[in-house]
Amino acid sequence: MRTRIGCSKLAPMAQLSNDCFVTDSRMRRIDEALAEIMARIGTVAAVERVALTAALGRILAEPIKAPISVPPAPNSAVDGYALRHRDLAPDRETRLALAGRAAAGHPFAAPVGEGEAVRIFTGAVMPDGADTVMMQEDCTAEEGFVCVAPGIRPGANTRPVGEDFTRGETLLEAGRRLRPQDIGLLAAAGFTEIAVRRKLRLALLSTGDEVQAPGTRLGDGQIYDANRAMLQALLQQFGMEATDLGILPDRRDRITQAIGEAARQHDAVMSSGGVSSGEEDHVRQAVDAQGSLYFWRLAIKPGRPVALGQVGDTPFIGLPGNPVAAMVTFLELARPMLLRLAGAAAEDAAWIPVRTRFAYRKKPGRREYLRVTLVREADGALAAEKFAREGAGILSSLTRSDGLMRLDEELAEVAPGTALPYRSYADFLA
Ligand code: AMP
Ligand code: MG
Repeated sequence: MRTRIGCSKLAPMAQLSNDCFVTDSRMRRIDEALAEIMARIGTVAAVERVALTAALGRILAEPIKAPISVPPAPNSAVDGYALRHRDLAPDRETRLALAGRAAAGHPFAAPVGEGEAVRIFTGAVMPDGADTVMMQEDCTAEEGFVCVAPGIRPGANTRPVGEDFTRGETLLEAGRRLRPQDIGLLAAAGFTEIAVRRKLRLALLSTGDEVQAPGTRLGDGQIYDANRAMLQALLQQFGMEATDLGILPDRRDRITQAIGEAARQHDAVMSSGGVSSGEEDHVRQAVDAQGSLYFWRLAIKPGRPVALGQVGDTPFIGLPGNPVAAMVTFLELARPMLLRLAGAAAEDAAWIPVRTRFAYRKKPGRREYLRVTLVREADGALAAEKFAREGAGILSSLTRSDGLMRLDEELAEVAPGTALPYRSYADFLA
């Protein structure tokens, strides 16, 4: 561990008056809510060093500068003959004397003299003096000589020093979540280990008297806990660690105690359920009693009630209980928050325009996320088909669709063929 960052995880939030979360029925735009919360959080994860082979998905703690240039020496891009371009006749074949052989890992030690060529193979270092490689297909080999066709460009088929990157160049910025190609680049630069952020540690809980752990028998009116498994998988997907606090009953004292204790031992606490406005919804009050709370009725569908706040200085994320709403609010709110806490650089959400195959009407002023599947049109272009049922409890809709289509607040009516922002689950989860 090399550096420690400040221990205050969350800058103090403007304290909200109590009636604000109890009676305020204003709907908040999700982008405003997110901007407000993002302005208040920074990286909490400390730095540790890991082997490059274990660094996939980890978040770079510092910018990486190249300690060497790659390639470190000029080399041949093809199998052929290395030569001095100025020795070639411009308008007819040139016969060059074979001076030796250079293979990858076995350089030709002597310089190439006037009228000479060296047999060379892909990846072999260019011999001194040679500046151009003629592909073997364009040469005729004779005993001790090679005949080379005219017209080649100087420097052809060679790779200069630093063609990929040069010493001192920034290869990757801090906050980068390492992808396989990043790991390859770091290996090419000679790294064996790298400074990354410690994995974010969350406490995860479900709430609800009706919610039961899979593996138990369901009683009357009970359902299995889908959210905890799903949220745990989501956290795992982003390289975060979750302590499983199980399912808490709809009791304010129990929820308050569990959240308070968890907040002292984790980087963040996340729950699902119990954030609506009903009498059995205790999560908001549990947070408010020992910290400060942002509660938003978000102007989105699905997803409406979300409780964000802090307990001590630990961020708290209270997602809605309906599984589809929990997933959508995780992807759109919790994901950027958690990535920020974990030390990841902000990313531009990669929503891409895709044409609809459906007509749709919505209430203006509210953002909707439709579950859609991509289908191929007659012209080969992709278009979005809407999943038929919209309920926020229909979890199978998320397994039977490809991604979300975003219908922004202002929109009221969608005609078939309208291009709207689409983001695949695969991209959200990358
Ligand atoms: P709540 O936000 O607690 O009012 O819950 C809203 C809906 O989501 C209710 O129908 C709950 O039964 C359901 N629900 C809450 N938590 C879970 C969970 N962990 N897994 C599946 N469904 C849930
Ligand atoms: Mg509940």
